[in-house]
Amino acid sequence: MDYLSENITNTSVATCCLALIGGLGNKVSFPNTQPYNDSINTYFSQQNSNLHPLCIVSPTTAADVSTAIKTITSTLETTNFAIRSGGHAPFTGASNIANGITLDLRGLNRITVSPDHTTASIGVGAAWGDVYSHLDPLGLSVAGGRAAQVGVGGLTTGGGISYFSPRYGWTCDTVTNFEIVLANGTIVNANEHENPELMIALRGGSNNFGVVTRVDMKTFEQGPIWGGSVYHSVDTYQQQLEAFAGLNSAEGYDEHASLITSFGFSEQGKAVVNSIVYTKAEENPAVYRPFMEIPKLFSTVRIAGMHEMAMEQGSFSKEGKRQMSVVMTHGSTLPMLNAVYQHWDSSLKGVEGIPGMVWAISLEPLPPAIYSRNASKNSLGLDDASGPLVVTLLSATWDDESDDEKVEKAARELFEHIENDARKLGVYEPFVYLNYAAPWQDPIASYKSECVERLKRVSLDVDPKRLFQTKIPGGFKLPK
Ligand SMILES: Cc1cc2nc3c(=O)[nH]c(=O)nc-3n(C[C@H](O)[C@H](O)[C@H](O)COP(=O)(O)OP(=O)(O)OC[C@H]3O[C@@H](n4cnc5c(N)ncnc54)[C@H](O)[C@@H]3O)c2cc1C
Repeated sequence: MDYLSENITNTSVATCCLALIGGLGNKVSFPNTQPYNDSINTYFSQQNSNLHPLCIVSPTTAADVSTAIKTITSTLETTNFAIRSGGHAPFTGASNIANGITLDLRGLNRITVSPDHTTASIGVGAAWGDVYSHLDPLGLSVAGGRAAQVGVGGLTTGGGISYFSPRYGWTCDTVTNFEIVLANGTIVNANEHENPELMIALRGGSNNFGVVTRVDMKTFEQGPIWGGSVYHSVDTYQQQLEAFAGLNSAEGYDEHASLITSFGFSEQGKAVVNSIVYTKAEENPAVYRPFMEIPKLFSTVRIAGMHEMAMEQGSFSKEGKRQMSVVMTHGSTLPMLNAVYQHWDSSLKGVEGIPGMVWAISLEPLPPAIYSRNASKNSLGLDDASGPLVVTLLSATWDDESDDEKVEKAARELFEHIENDARKLGVYEPFVYLNYAAPWQDPIASYKSECVERLKRVSLDVDPKRLFQTKIPGGFKLPK
């Protein structure tokens, strides 16, 4: 209160924060308090930790979210707000906002399993590590994210690539019900029977329709899995690309196989890291033999539970630094994979010497087993695609804001080159994966036009005043 009366010049936001205290009490926090600092200091990227909302709302129930949305819509005239689950989207303002209001959903983190063990109901503010530590002891799992600290809300509404995706599809495909608070504050369910078009919209449509508060996900029986990280010299790149193309083009993709092949540069030098995970407790399955035959430097491969694997995958990223990701999709031919590697290698001259720089390009198989399994029931628009695809992701981490421009220039140039080659080689695929996209990319516009039209129709239906298009500037919006 003192803070508000002494510091606030933006009276409409201040009025809104005061009204929020009226409905939500100490679930509203202000700068220089512990809950507020805890919220802004736990974003993945420095870009988002540096943004200071006027107040942060931390609901613990869907009813709290409804109260917040009703309050915001009744008092808010000129102010914007942001929605945050795990806070792992890296670019500025994706899930935080300067001088506005942030809804921090991390308190919506309840995880329960239905009595028949077929469904896990998961609060969107849970991190995937929490989900696996709950499900592992029950001998169950869900097709969720691979890194422990990433949030359920953002990953699921943007698609979601899981170790289990070749068996079950995108994470969003495995959600049987979304609980969501709409712009008018009502809490509704979106599933096959109630609001089915909204369910499809939420499978890839991100924060454009409301605040998702809970997802009910299909579970499956799952014991320990085999996998880990295998480190190699970058000199082995040709063998790596051949092994990658082989795994991703095999007739009848092995649906237990998951892979991320990364070429990384840091102040310590260059290396190749294969994150391999076979979703059975089977050592050295045939599908990875070509990789295991390549001379290695170091390996963590063993049989372990999903929580342990997710902790290991999460340990690759450095929290609290400047972060960027950029993505594109293309076919899985050897010439194309070579082009990606060569362009990444040439791009290093643009980023070497930047303090704290980690510049990694990752190749992730996207076989039809993932993208076509449920293509007509999600919004990603890949039902016309064919053959094995590759999601190519650049992840960059560095120390200082003063290097942002240089990093962005290098990243844009790298992707221009990769895209040009994909077109020349006839393997360009327009799909831009939202969860990995850079702020200058337009992932929803890359979905098939019928999907975009449906997303616009659902948006008009559930949010006729366009609250989620105009008052939540962060994240990826529907095309105009
Ligand atoms: C270390 C790391 C590992 C990753 N691993 C994977 C992986 O294995 N597979 C994969 O597919 N992706 C992965 N990603 C990408 C990840 O899916 C995205 O960064 C995703 O946005 C993170 O979700 P979040 O809830 O943590 O993010 P947030 O930053 O909280 O949210 C991201 C976006 O979603 C919106 N949003 C969040 N919650 C809601 C909600 N409840 N209702 C409506 N809108 C909402 C936000 O407004 C924001 O625009 C990874 C990212 C990192 C940094």
